[in-house]
Parts: sequence; C-alpha cells; structure tokens
Amino acid sequence: MRLKNKVSIITGAAQGIGLATALKFAREGAVVIVCDMKPEAVDAAVTQCRALGAEVSGFAVDVTKREQVDTMVAAVREKHGRIDVLVNNAGITRDARLQKMTLEQFDAVIDVNLRAVFHCAQAVVETMVEQGAGVILNASSVVGLYGNFGQTNYAASKFGVIGFTKTWSRELGPKGVRVNAVAPGFIETPILSTIPDKVIEQMREKVPLRRLGLRRGDRQRLRLPRVGRGRLRQRRGHRGHRRHDGLSRGAPRPARRHAGCGKTARACQRAARAGAGIGDNAAPCLPSSKMPGSSSPAV
Ligand code: NAD
Repeated sequence: MRLKNKVSIITGAAQGIGLATALKFAREGAVVIVCDMKPEAVDAAVTQCRALGAEVSGFAVDVTKREQVDTMVAAVREKHGRIDVLVNNAGITRDARLQKMTLEQFDAVIDVNLRAVFHCAQAVVETMVEQGAGVILNASSVVGLYGNFGQTNYAASKFGVIGFTKTWSRELGPKGVRVNAVAPGFIETPILSTIPDKVIEQMREKVPLRRLGLRRGDRQRLRLPRVGRGRLRQRRGHRGHRRHDGLSRGAPRPARRHAGCGKTARACQRAARAGAGIGDNAAPCLPSSKMPGSSSPAV
C-alpha cells in the first residue's frame, strides 16, 4: 500500500477521473476525503471507497466558493491533524468558438478550472509547509498544451494550471512540498458529453491507439491489454516481436550475425570476454557491415 494513512483531499471526486482517483487512493490505503458539489454523488462515492476498507469522509463543497473550501480544510485538519495530498481535479467545460463564447461561459470555466485550484492550494499550503511535506497534484490537459477547437476558456485554464504548477513547485519544493500536474489526453468520462462528436473524432485520430482513454472498469470490461507497468510490457528476449500494447507485430527479426565469427554481437562479446587474458582472441570481431571492404549488411 503506497499511500497508507496519507490524508488526501480529492476535488471533483464524485465521478469520472476524480472518482477513479479516489478509489485508487482507497485501495492504496489513503485516508480519502471526497470533495464534490453534488451531495448525493458525494455520498455514493464515499460508500464505494468505504467498501474498499478505506477511512473516508465526504464534503459537499463548491470549490469556487472560498469559504466552503476553507471550512472543509479546517474540518480535515481538525479531525486528522494533517493534510498529505491535495488532488485538484474538479473541472468543467463550456465550449464555443471564439466569436460565440459568452462571458458567462468564459468565467464559469476560469472559476472552476483555475481560480478554484488557487483556492484549494492556498487553503492547504500552510499545513503542508508546517509539516515540511505534502503533494499537490493539479489536473491540466493536453488541451492546455496544444489548444483545441471551441475551447478558448478551457485551454487557457489548463495552460494556467501548468503555470501554477511550475510556480508553486519553485516556491514550495525547497519546503518539502511537491507540486505536479497531469495532462491527460481524452478520457471517456461525462465531461466529454458536451464536446461535439466531430471534435472527439479529430482527437481520436491523433491518438496512436485510435481510441480514447478508458477508466479501469471499462478497460477490464472490454478486455483490453494493460499498458505500461502491466504484464504486457516488452518482453526481454523478444524485442521487436511484441509491442508494449500487446499487439503482435509479426515474426521476430533474425539476429544480425558477425561475418567474422558467425556469432551474434552479444555472443561474440561474451566469447571475447571469456577469452580475455588468454591472448589475441580477447577483442570481439566487427560485424560484417563494418568489416573493411564490406558494403552489404550482415544477415
Ligand atoms: P467529470 O465531469 O466526469 O467530473 C468532474 C467532477 O468535478 C464532477 O463530479 C463535478 O461535479 C465536479 N465539479 C465540477 N465543478 C465543481 C465545483 N465547482 N466544485 C466541486 N466539484 C465540482 O470530469 P472528468 O473527465 O473526470 O475530468 C476531471 C478533470 O480532468 C477535470 O479537471 C478535467 O478538465 C480533466 N481532464 C479530463 C479529460 C477527459 O478527457 N475526461 C482530459 C484531460 C483533463
């Protein structure tokens, strides 16, 4: 359990990526503080985390309201005496092209995605600095890095989050507080329901796997292979045969052999090492492509 007893506040934790994060933290032994604006959804998320054996509290908080954030943070501190992690995950979209975007749409997104991140970070920072330890993890997005059609407000907010992160990591790193951002690609959660299919299709086309990210349950239901730390990482000894995503790329390429000795490079070096100290055989021979006078690659 990598987060045993770490007191972790997760905003926007009632659904989507926030809920998936809360459940993961619960599995890793954290004390999970579920924060979201919908009380019934908070209760449901708390129940799910508790079912995993975690210590959990829920707070119905609108993170754009500073007093509500301060009240929650004071209650967590009072109860647990510390705050180890803040995941600034709550976020919204209100998309429109530049010519059509209203001030309400612009302000709503900046309020939740940017101003509220500032609220939550400022509310916990004193505690973390006093502890000399803590982690703030901010949700940015690929849209903050590359921009996206119809997302002036969202792109600006997510780019702003990267600015927060770089600034706070300079200010707080020396005091033992780590600040990082994640910039996910498109993940299939309710936040995408407001984005036109055409825009989603364009984003899908840019992803090498030609599909959007999935939450844990969806990946298991569709029986997709694990990527990264999972079992289907490149296997030693089968390099070039199995890709990291588990899809077969065809037959393995035959190993290149040295023209001089007929061995593979590794076998040749091993033989040279074994011969070291015995005499002239100590140096490995050159592959055929590097042999003087050779023009064709060795097979
Ligand atoms: P989602 O809409 O599924 O969940 C967002 C949660 O935030 C909801 O539970 C909502 O109630 C909560 N929330 C919204 N406003 C709030 C407020 N004022 N106070 C408290 N809670 C509030 O979204 P998601 O897809 O899970 O996204 C989570 C984060 O990840 C967001 O910051 C989003 O911008 C970012 N992100 C998402 C994607 C994606 O493709 N889904 C990609 C990159 C980044």
